[in-house]
Amino acid sequence: MKTLLLASIALLLTSCMQQNKNRELQAIFTKGEAGAVGNFTGKAWNTSLVANDTVYNTLVGNVYFEPGARSNWHTHPAGQILIITDGIGYHQIKGQPRQTIKKGDVVKCPPNAMHWHGASPESGLQQLYIISNTEKGIVQWLHPVSDAEYYNEN
Ligand code: MN
Repeated sequence: MKTLLLASIALLLTSCMQQNKNRELQAIFTKGEAGAVGNFTGKAWNTSLVANDTVYNTLVGNVYFEPGARSNWHTHPAGQILIITDGIGYHQIKGQPRQTIKKGDVVKCPPNAMHWHGASPESGLQQLYIISNTEKGIVQWLHPVSDAEYYNEN
């Protein structure tokens, strides 16, 4: 009887976790425009929240990555801060292990560090990006993230 009860609880928990992975993300901002095809694998949507200007030299925006979508490898000459507002995804700096990122996480990408970010295969990822000191540059796009890199098979 006890075993049956424990098995039922385990099954319930598993199904809840599965639901959490596949659920729709809670949108805060408008979805925006599709990211440039050459810079992403899968679909990513970008909406600008704070346009760059010479007073603040700061760019803020929201990106929604569909499940499985990710950026190409790239660098930010002045670095970048990511604030994850929903979902589950990945972030990796070249030469370092892939990190899982989720709602509530804050990630700093140092200036000129080659990196990528995106959704996990099962869940989308919603993130705010903040780029300050934009007078140094905003982004330099590089090559796509291979499936082996994305699935952490290297
Ligand atoms: Mn970045």
